[in-house]
Order: sequence, then C-alpha cells, then structure tokens
Amino acid sequence: MREPIPDSALALSRALSRRELSAREAALACLSRMEAREDELHAFLTVTREEALAAADRVDSRRAAGEELPPLAGVPMAVKDNLCTRGVRTTCGSRMLEHFVSPYDATAVARLREAGCPLLGKTNLDEFAMGCDTGASAFGPTANPVDPARVPGGSSGGSAAAVAAREALFALGSDTGGSVRQPAALCGVVGLRPTYGRISRYGLTGFAPSFDQIGLLTRTVEDCAAVLEAVAGFDPRDATSARVFSEGVLRAVGEGVRGLTIALVRESEEEASPGVRRELLRAVRCLESRGARVDELSLPFLRDMLPAYHILAAAEASSNLARFDGVRYGFRAPEAVSWQELIRESRSRGFGPEVKRRILLGTLALTKERYDACYGRASRIRAATGAALREALARFDLLLLPASPETAWRRGEKRSPVALYRSDLFAVPASMAGLPAVSVPFGAEQGLPVGMQLVGRAFEEAALLRAARALEEENA
Ligand code: GLN
Repeated sequence: MREPIPDSALALSRALSRRELSAREAALACLSRMEAREDELHAFLTVTREEALAAADRVDSRRAAGEELPPLAGVPMAVKDNLCTRGVRTTCGSRMLEHFVSPYDATAVARLREAGCPLLGKTNLDEFAMGCDTGASAFGPTANPVDPARVPGGSSGGSAAAVAAREALFALGSDTGGSVRQPAALCGVVGLRPTYGRISRYGLTGFAPSFDQIGLLTRTVEDCAAVLEAVAGFDPRDATSARVFSEGVLRAVGEGVRGLTIALVRESEEEASPGVRRELLRAVRCLESRGARVDELSLPFLRDMLPAYHILAAAEASSNLARFDGVRYGFRAPEAVSWQELIRESRSRGFGPEVKRRILLGTLALTKERYDACYGRASRIRAATGAALREALARFDLLLLPASPETAWRRGEKRSPVALYRSDLFAVPASMAGLPAVSVPFGAEQGLPVGMQLVGRAFEEAALLRAARALEEENA
C-alpha cells in the first residue's frame, strides 16, 4: 500500500483518475489510520470496513472498464451517526437507538454513495446532536486530534476529528446551532453550514427542524465546494428543500475577493479570546490586502440570539423526541407492566442527561403559562434579529466573525451547560436566520487552531467560499 495518500478529496480524486493509486488503496490507507488512531480519538461509533472496500472495488472495476466516473468516485467518507444509512446502524449517540438500523439512506448519503464515495463508518456525536464537545455521547467522548486532552467541539466532533486526523477525506455533519462550524474551528478543518434548504434533510434525525441543516467537513475550501455540488439540490422528500442549482460553486471558489464588501462584526471582537481576536484582525488585513472592502458593523442583538436559540431549539426537540416512546423505535424497558410505565421507563433510561434537560426546558417553554414569555418572546427575537441580519447583508456581501469565541478547551474544564453553550455564541446567528456560513482554519492561539467564520446571503455559498479560499491561502 502506498502511504501517504493525498490529503484533500480533490487531490485524491485526481490521483485516482490518473490511476496513480486505486480506490481500494485509498480506503485501506484510511482504515489503517483509523486502526492507528481510533483507540485514542474515538471519532467513530461504527466502522464499515467490508462495505468500504466493496464500494472501492466497484469504483476500481468501473474505472478499469473505462467508465466515465463522477469526480468524487473512490474518495472515502465518514458520516455523522444521526444520518440514516441503510444496513448500517444509526445510533444518534444515544442508548435509545443503540441497535437501530434504518431501512433507507438519507438523501445526502445516497447521493454520495451514487457518486462512488466509499462509506468508512459513522461518527460520534453528542446525543441527538445536542451539545458542544461530543462529551454528551452515550458511547463516550471523542478527543481532539490536535491535542487529545482537549475536546473536538460538537456536536459533529467525530466528523471533525476524523477529517482532522485524516481518517476520512471528508465527512458529513449536521448544524442546528453551530455543530459543524464550531467543531471544524476547534479541530482545524473547513466546516460549511449551507443555506437552509440547500441540502435535503431527508434521513437526518430531527433535533430542531426549523434550524437543522446537513453540513460538510473537509480539509480544503475547494473540497467543500466539490462535496456541496455532489450532495445539494432539490429533493421532493424534504418539503423545505429549495429548487436552486448548486453547479458552479467549485468554479467560483478561486475568483478572489476583489470587490466584495465585508462587515467585521464588532461584538464578536469584544467577546473573543485575545488570540482569536488577534486572528480576526489579521483576517481583516488579509481580506483588505486582496482587494475586499472591510468595514466595522455593530450587531448589538448578537448576544440575545443564543438564549433565544436554546428556547426555540429545545421546544422543537421536546416535540420531535416524543416519538421515542419505547413502542415505535429503539430502546424499550423490558419489564414495564403498564403503557405509562413503558413510556416513562423507556424514556428515563434511553435518554441521557443533556437530552432530558432539553426536553424539560422545551416542554416548559411551551406550557400555557410560559408560552408567551418563553417561546413567543424567543420567536420574536428570531424574527427581529433575522431581519436585521438580512438588512446587514443587503449592505454587505459577507459578515466576518470568528466561528467560536475560543479555541479547544481541556476535557472536563467546562462544567456547567451554560459555559458550554457559550461556545456557540458566534455560530447561532446564521442558524437563526437560515443563512449559509463557513468556518475556515486561520491561524492559532497557543498552538490550537482558530476558525474564522463568514456568513453570506441565502444561496450565495459561492461568495462565502471565495472569501474562505482567500483566508485559506494566507493560512498556508
Ligand atoms: N451546540 C449547540 C447545541 O447544543 C448546537 C447543536 C447543533 O448544532 N446540533 O444546541
């Protein structure tokens, strides 16, 4: 076996099409890295070795037969374990679904399988994607490959760690309130949350469906564009799926930032750690030197969005997770003697503490007594702040702010949920408004990666990735 294989998905794809190596060799290289690192990292909950090799062999024989193959054919991938995969268990990081095998593939997974991407396995996550450090998985935490004593972020921490450790060439994640961008920032990889509706959510286990969006974790900005083109597009099975085309994003990535107007969000500068703030200001200089116009912009409501997000997301979660009742799906308390006891015991034992906290908070926010003060008020904040963000984006092409106020912390260092939630302060705004946002590695604070975030107009991922590419070039 040839080691090392190229680092990026597109570089590997070129090597595969030139037949410098086979898809089987690429899959084996990833599997051997997993063997070397997984004991320490625990990025994967399930490894699908045989399936990956069989898929790679199919690509190799099609190529040998002279078939024209899609660009990502033979590039191995990892998939967050809240995306349904036919024939492979989908646990959502929960005891509730420990043995659940979906009868169908999520649309995003199906599209990548059709594109010839071998599935290496399913990655770890906070239970039902609720969390910030992949420590709320029922199956144990994931470590950050940069420093295994530190957290990888979350909830797509397994996907981010797998890509950062080069166990997979790219990964799918999900981003409700930052779960792709924040772990991407903490692990030093690219993380894209596309516009709400850009990628079908069919087969993504719902947490808060008005926020949920499948996202991408990649090693380069170009890879991100290539994977986006492969998974995006209308799907009749998702009622919120948009009828827009995604071709041309990859072509646009290299166009540079000349002429783009970018707003530095002042409040993010105030809330960031000293090192993150330093990189933010360096990012401004980098973008300016390449021809973008950068102005400062105040978004005073930025800090109000995080609590509002938590009320709304918990309210949606409390309703969504009602389906896990011990009757239809997943874990069932075996000895229950009445249906009340069956539901109570199955839910009490099937869900972990973070999920229960969200269900309780969400249920409380929806009670008749609290509805207006909690859910109603949070909805009004969402509407008003979303409108203000869109208005800012009528004046500027992009907003610039860090993806996370700080770098990866030591596991065990943050004890209260509120301290953990704060790491999503800068990620939540794009989620609240359904806007696309990307985190791109840019510099470091004391040796730990910093992620810079760009937020763009709906369905203008191309502008987002052009600016991300400029920062990536500077970072190289
Ligand atoms: N970390 C955030 C939360 O705990 C976001 C989670 C997500 O995006 N899935 O809700």
